[in-house]
Amino acid sequence: MPTRRLVAWIAIFGLLALTACTSDEPDQPLEPFAGSNRQDVPTVERVSEPEGNWFESSCALDMNLLRRVRAGINPDRSPHITVVPREPNYYGGFSAFTHSGPWDYVQRVPLAFYGPGFIRPRGPLKLNRLVTLADVAPTLAELVGTELPGRRPGRAITETLVDDSRRGQPKVIVQVVWDGGGMNVLEQWPNAWPNLERIMAEGTSIRDVEVGSSPSVTPAVHATIGTGSFPKQHEIVDIPVRDGDEVTGSYADGSPSNLALTTVADIYDQQVGNEAEIGLFSYKQWHWGLVGHGSYLEGGDKDIVFMNTPSGTFETNPLFYEMPEYATRVPGLEDYARLVDRADGRADGLWVGNDVLETSAADLRDTAAWTLYQTDIAIEVMERQGFGDDDITDLFFLNYKQVDGVGHRWNMLEPEVQEIVRYADADLERLMSWLDRNVGEREWVLMLTADHGQGPDPLRSGAWPIQQGPLLDDVGSEFDVDPDSLFQVERPGAYWVDRQVLEEKSMTLEDIAAFMNDYRLEDNVSDNQDVPEPYKDRLREPLFSAAFPTSAIGRIWGCAKRQG
Ligand SMILES: [Zn+2]
Repeated sequence: MPTRRLVAWIAIFGLLALTACTSDEPDQPLEPFAGSNRQDVPTVERVSEPEGNWFESSCALDMNLLRRVRAGINPDRSPHITVVPREPNYYGGFSAFTHSGPWDYVQRVPLAFYGPGFIRPRGPLKLNRLVTLADVAPTLAELVGTELPGRRPGRAITETLVDDSRRGQPKVIVQVVWDGGGMNVLEQWPNAWPNLERIMAEGTSIRDVEVGSSPSVTPAVHATIGTGSFPKQHEIVDIPVRDGDEVTGSYADGSPSNLALTTVADIYDQQVGNEAEIGLFSYKQWHWGLVGHGSYLEGGDKDIVFMNTPSGTFETNPLFYEMPEYATRVPGLEDYARLVDRADGRADGLWVGNDVLETSAADLRDTAAWTLYQTDIAIEVMERQGFGDDDITDLFFLNYKQVDGVGHRWNMLEPEVQEIVRYADADLERLMSWLDRNVGEREWVLMLTADHGQGPDPLRSGAWPIQQGPLLDDVGSEFDVDPDSLFQVERPGAYWVDRQVLEEKSMTLEDIAAFMNDYRLEDNVSDNQDVPEPYKDRLREPLFSAAFPTSAIGRIWGCAKRQG
């Protein structure tokens, strides 16, 4: 039996989904979003030598890229070696796509505010200052009448807000993050997000917003959105972080202990005696920086913070957060699997032609069925907890990870990504209808952003996907060291090094940086790998624009500023 919400979904959007998918032709790619004044489709610049030694190359990095790299570095947490691939190169493979770096195409993100009575109807707005995701938290703070302590880099975007004197407090604020839904993804599929386009037009949407720090990865950026500061200050620098001599997960065991700054939700909830409802449902702990610390903070209470794991189970950390039991028993996922299967007019068990609906819980999470199901869970929580029932503003945070997951799996240029954006967008409308019906018209605010863009298929952008395996092996051969013992953890552009092994081998971090600075495409070809034709005359290209011991960032920044 279809659930009540499923029926509602079919009634509202079933037709849309059907009409959307009966056309064989996907939207025309790479039409720039109307009014966008920047073209940042990555292009290959032919380079035959590095700029100079590791320091000179790093100093020569574009100032915007270097600014973002610097904002992402915290001396206690960051990797020992930082590397910036030469755009559009990225870490991964020809069918393994990643998005971690300082380049415009991963940094540009949408930022929309909507809420009649609270948000001004200014439409798309270009400010004459740099707007980053660190500006989201101060704006949220302004809306709930609180302030972030200390000197944080984010500034409230008051240009979006109705005047203080005429603005009450919304009953509910919902913050939606389309994971990996950066501007290059939206520009790629300009017809897939009509609801977002509408709220951008009827509320206020800021143009040319950037993440503001690198690496552009989920945990780091979500902590930026939550705290109004960059990894330099909030310390969630990447998926792993340094902890003394060890490297640990950014939110190991679901603990917020590595998040060094309070969030708006942390501060605001205490200000109202923990009477606000605060909720988050996500896919990983990586998103918990949106909410913050729960009862980990003295005086804090257990906010509703829980997630779904790849095996399909629900989890929280009950020490600091709460997971309502009913939320783990929301029905409908199987029905949604059937719904998205039938969206192309054929009940063939496939989603956009892929056999992923009945294979595993992990597979199903990378489909639109999960998008719809996740919205159900969010609505169930808001309904049962009485979000919007009183005059104290409640906050709900929602991350749609499928946009990112589908992009990793199929690539942002493929129709699966168009399809997942369509569903995420349709569910925006469903969330807003729920808010209108249950909280009341003109009683709520919705914000939408994304944590990063995505990397296009390398064969179409000309990127060389840097393979970590051969690179580590080459470091091992060069310095006669076992790379598994030298490197504690490696990530795209980030290497945590075992200092003891470094000493034993009489190596320095500078040695590793120098080696990577001069690392060429031909070095990175693995055994038995056929180099695709377009790369055959590029074998001598250096793969990185910069590689440096992370502790040198101050000197590099000084040098770059002097050279202007
Ligand atoms: Zn991702």
